[in-house]
Amino acid sequence: MREFGTTVFATMTRLAVETGSINLGQGFPDTDGPEAMLGRAVEAIRGGLNQYPPGPGVPELRRAVSEHQKEYYGLGYDPDGEVLVTVGATEAIAATVLALCEPGDEVIVFEPYYDSYAAAIALSGAARVPVLLRVDAGRFTFDPDELAAAVGPRTRAILVNSPHNPTGTVFTREELASIAALCEAHDLIAITDEVYEHLTFDGVEHVPLATFPGMRDRTVTISSAGKSFSVTGWKVGWVCAPYALVSAVQAVKQFMTFTSSAPWQLAVAYGLRHEMEWVAAQRASLSAKRDRLTEGLVAAGFDVLRPAGTYFIQADIRPLGFDDGLAFARQLPERAGVVAIPTQVFYDHAEYGARYVRFAFCKRDDVIDEAVDRLKRL
Ligand code: PMP
Ligand code: GLN
Repeated sequence: MREFGTTVFATMTRLAVETGSINLGQGFPDTDGPEAMLGRAVEAIRGGLNQYPPGPGVPELRRAVSEHQKEYYGLGYDPDGEVLVTVGATEAIAATVLALCEPGDEVIVFEPYYDSYAAAIALSGAARVPVLLRVDAGRFTFDPDELAAAVGPRTRAILVNSPHNPTGTVFTREELASIAALCEAHDLIAITDEVYEHLTFDGVEHVPLATFPGMRDRTVTISSAGKSFSVTGWKVGWVCAPYALVSAVQAVKQFMTFTSSAPWQLAVAYGLRHEMEWVAAQRASLSAKRDRLTEGLVAAGFDVLRPAGTYFIQADIRPLGFDDGLAFARQLPERAGVVAIPTQVFYDHAEYGARYVRFAFCKRDDVIDEAVDRLKRL
């Protein structure tokens, strides 16, 4: 694991703290989740839910996740055996890859990819095979022929993240259908990271890959509470998949963490059942913040790709006279008192991401405005 070092998020957040900069790097909101849901966590602790919960997760949360998948996507999962609660989506991804992939296997990822994918694949001994997302008509997308060409005799799984971090792309039905067709044709497992499932804008809909014909049986669907409910520090995630796949993932999870923290699970179950209106309002608020930061970055001279989902914006630094996002992001705290994430760290082929930096807009309006004012001095 030597090549993995410290994550870019930890590095950039430390830089923000050290330099007193506005942190538009690491993606976490600077406001709290729904009040009643926070109260449920306190009540759970006060009420004595402080010992190991069952390995698969507290039954209330497994039922709430199952109901959520049914209500939003028409997908049926048995809460006893087809739903597993994990320590955030991060553990879900790692446990899934470790459970299902072995040395000699290949796992396809779309680059730029979320950093933990590469680490999880490396831990399993499998090899990652990147497929490039290119900018076309103002959004990052892939070429279906390049995706098809990436599949070989050793391909075991394809990791799909939509809405996509760090690009903000939400895959269309056509894009997802082409992925599904490949999985069917080559007997691949799909691992889907859907942590931004509720953060889409302009009426763009999130469609789980598991809803495509034949895909439910070969898809491990992963999500978590952090983004939907603005509780990134709670680290409550989950896996939905057929019995055999969940049981394999659970076999790994039990030796990583055995089980996940009990009180937060009860609170998240409450959130999924009673706070989805809050989530809808949050989505509207984030959509306005996306517009606010987009306009601000344009005014500051960046070329901006307007994201359809997540809480990240890709900004092209070339109009400002820069061409290396890594150097730019390193200098930005000194020059402007703002922190961003250099997009190239999410690539195997860094040259494709060199012109972009990622800004997070899940921040208070006054924080966004102050950051924009500072960036205008560049
Ligand atoms: N996947 C993606 C695409 C993410 O952006 C993140 C960061 N929140 C995670 C997974 C990790 O989620 P969690 O905090 O629930 O582990
Ligand atoms: N998912 C968040 C991001 O992309 C942060 C994750 C982390 O700090 N590991 O910014």
